Amino acid sequence: MSDLHNLSVKSLASLLQTKEVSAVEVATRFLARMGGNPHNAFLDIDSEVTLAQARASDAKLADGTAGPLEGVPVAHKDVFVTRDFATTAGSKILSGYRSPFDATVVQRLRTAGMVTLGKLNCDEFAMGSANENSAYGPVQNPWDTARVPGGSSGGSAAAVAAGLAPAATGTDTGGSIRQPASFCGITGIKPTYGRASRYGMIAYASSLDQAGPMARSAEDCALMLSAMCGADLDRDSTSLDMPTEDFTASLNNSLEGLRIGIPKEFFGEGLAADVRAAVDSALREYEKLGAKLVPISLPRTELSIPVYYIIAPAEASSNLSRFDGVKFGHRAKDYTDLVDMYKKTRAEGFGNEVKRRIMTGAYVLSHGYYDAYYLQAQKIRRMIADDFQNAFKECDVIAGPVAPSVAWKFGENANDPVADYLADIFTLPASLAGLPGMSVPAGFGAGGMPVGLQLIGNYFKEAQLLNAAHRLQQATDWHLQKPQGI
Ligand code: GLN
Repeated sequence: MSDLHNLSVKSLASLLQTKEVSAVEVATRFLARMGGNPHNAFLDIDSEVTLAQARASDAKLADGTAGPLEGVPVAHKDVFVTRDFATTAGSKILSGYRSPFDATVVQRLRTAGMVTLGKLNCDEFAMGSANENSAYGPVQNPWDTARVPGGSSGGSAAAVAAGLAPAATGTDTGGSIRQPASFCGITGIKPTYGRASRYGMIAYASSLDQAGPMARSAEDCALMLSAMCGADLDRDSTSLDMPTEDFTASLNNSLEGLRIGIPKEFFGEGLAADVRAAVDSALREYEKLGAKLVPISLPRTELSIPVYYIIAPAEASSNLSRFDGVKFGHRAKDYTDLVDMYKKTRAEGFGNEVKRRIMTGAYVLSHGYYDAYYLQAQKIRRMIADDFQNAFKECDVIAGPVAPSVAWKFGENANDPVADYLADIFTLPASLAGLPGMSVPAGFGAGGMPVGLQLIGNYFKEAQLLNAAHRLQQATDWHLQKPQGI
């Protein structure tokens, strides 16, 4: 089977269950493709570990104890801690760090049978929109290696797009699953905040961080999301106390009469014409499928940028205080006393963007500024969430672009962090509200680069989003397009 690397999670799972291929065969194929680390997508690969997991999966397939995704490979964003692979979160401060345990999401996917291919490159501590902030070098976009793959889950998106893994995990704090999925032409979903456990996911901004799957289709995402989600109250008190759900059950529901809200603020001046045209073509497909487009308004869309870039750094400044050279990873070599050791370790270990955010965060939380910045941002965050609830009185799902442009070229926004921040405008609102959102391929824009359609649902409506995405993918072939040579 020469095209194993282009098969969906679903097809691989069924070929493995019927023993047409073995887990070792599948793993070996992907490991061969990963050789030389194309696109700099991976940060850690250990074929011994992968093959041992694959052999264990084959044993389970043989004795009838296999999980639903037994033997299907997956690669994890490097912010999920793993016992058998190094974990760095793309930071020098965690170089050489190995966790004594697996993140809940990693463990749950392994229980479902998935075999770990390795750890994927990302922006340092998931801070970034282009994967240019990784301490281990940027990831290339497989559609055009001169362009960024998006971020922060850039390695995840590039690996799936380049056929180095059939699926990957990502994390999304302000868009980090949706935007790289959009830039690399794959499908990704960020579930409702609390659906997936954050235990073992290295914290960036805890009130926003969510894990989710990235794959080639909505159906594959549904299969993985069903395995990833579930209450984990003893270990993550913000995980939701809800039963696990089979997100594949309603994939084929009709979209007849579905009301799709089109927020006018997502189609304003800053939106590139090529992205707009691609998004419009996807919306026309939805009309053909029986959906109705309804104009809506999310009036505080623009405010989501300052609000997010106050709240996320504030939480990051607190979360990242644990990296001080004592318990984890890097420690400075020469120091005079404990405080000097802390200072030197952090100065050497963190990159510029992480330092910038720690300083911003400490500032907005400091006495005298807390009320003016952090507290105000919290109030507006609430209003942004209320705006969505108003909108959902008139529609079932919301659709728009994921990002204002296609993937930009390396260096284009370098030295201008604000340019990257502004490009997060369409993904930040759903994050601040804790709503589920996804990116679905919707054709191509300038330079032949992929464009993603964003779908946002109300709380716990992942099944409805995945249904809408799946029906679009049944009617179109944008998600089946691949970069040249893959
Ligand atoms: N681009 C946003 C940031 O830099 C979002 C990142 C994310 O979702 N992890 O913070």
